[in-house]
Amino acid sequence: MASTMRNLILKNVRPMGGPADDVLVEQGIIKSIGGSQTAPPGYPVIDGQGHLLLPGFVEGHVHLDKILWGLPYQPVQAGPEILDYIENEKRIRLHELKVPVDIRAGNLIRQCVRKGTAAIRSHVDIDPDYGLSNLEGVLAAKEKYASVVDIQIVAFPQSGVIRMPGTIELLEEAMNSGADHIGGLDPLVVDKDPAGQLNALFRIAHKHGCSIDIHLHDPGELGAFTIDMMIDRVEALGMQGKVVISHGWCLGQIEYERFQPLTERMARNGVSVLTSAPGARTMPPIAKLRANGVTVFAASDSLRDTWNPYGNGDMLERTMLVGWRSNFRRDEEIMVALDTTTYAGAKILGLEKYGLAPGCKADFFTLPGESVPEAIMTRPERSLVVKAGRVVAQEGVYEGPGAE
Ligand SMILES: [Zn+2]
Repeated sequence: MASTMRNLILKNVRPMGGPADDVLVEQGIIKSIGGSQTAPPGYPVIDGQGHLLLPGFVEGHVHLDKILWGLPYQPVQAGPEILDYIENEKRIRLHELKVPVDIRAGNLIRQCVRKGTAAIRSHVDIDPDYGLSNLEGVLAAKEKYASVVDIQIVAFPQSGVIRMPGTIELLEEAMNSGADHIGGLDPLVVDKDPAGQLNALFRIAHKHGCSIDIHLHDPGELGAFTIDMMIDRVEALGMQGKVVISHGWCLGQIEYERFQPLTERMARNGVSVLTSAPGARTMPPIAKLRANGVTVFAASDSLRDTWNPYGNGDMLERTMLVGWRSNFRRDEEIMVALDTTTYAGAKILGLEKYGLAPGCKADFFTLPGESVPEAIMTRPERSLVVKAGRVVAQEGVYEGPGAE
């Protein structure tokens, strides 16, 4: 089991690849970093072996209810259109699998934690078929693993909103039952009623003071048009800083003359972008978005489920994929990729006291490497993972709740 002690001293680590330091942790908070530090009596002393020290990864978008991680491999049998995937998942009836949602979610959570993830935002399917059963399962996992990872839940209408009567009421119920944010899905292509879906989502989000994190796969001008419709509502309701565009492939497809004013409007309204660095899909142009003031963060999204056989929940690998898909080669560019899986994600998830400075929560991990960019290329096992001052994994072996 993980140590219950929230005090420790970590000797000889290199924060963000810089010079070697010691880190003193008291009551789960970084008390000081630097030079050679002396541990108060009784504090565990851990030899950091000169390894790199990074803040815990932020997994900004995953689907804990869909995950089949830990089960026998299931070939993906759906496609090519999004509605095919939706119907295929319904046919398999995930919520009736012998291995329930909370157990499957836990399988992935333990994998994420041992790879250095400290916080997760999970979308959870809400629709008239599932009711709130997925939410209940993920809430149970959230509680079980609360000591090793922070989990936020987005109530996600995977089957659509307007085309599935009863969904709006269920989203409301989800918000009253433990969900943190409201999701959405391609208002034009899935619902064919963009105003209908967006009005419903914004009404609920405004009422609950939460964010909207919408899956937007719609291409080109369809997607751009939807973003403009969303910002109209942000401005009308004063919901600046509370909208995330997940995927936003359209942002990599529209012309410069459309991209510039749209993304400047996004920046003014605190509309951010989540990318999974998808395979053959268009990548949102991270450097251009950041230059225009839009925050971009990254995540695994769907992995090892009925949608996608790829992925392993390792945000170090996702960092590499973000850099690879963005053609980031110089060290300073590769560090931008790391920002999307750490600080930018923490900002959008609203994580308090995040980072590697005195006063920050002691959520961090170590790994061997010459430099941070080199470690992103080689992706070694994490030598130590600490959450709120407790050791939760060592040498790639998970030690928290549910450990074998
Ligand atoms: Zn997703």
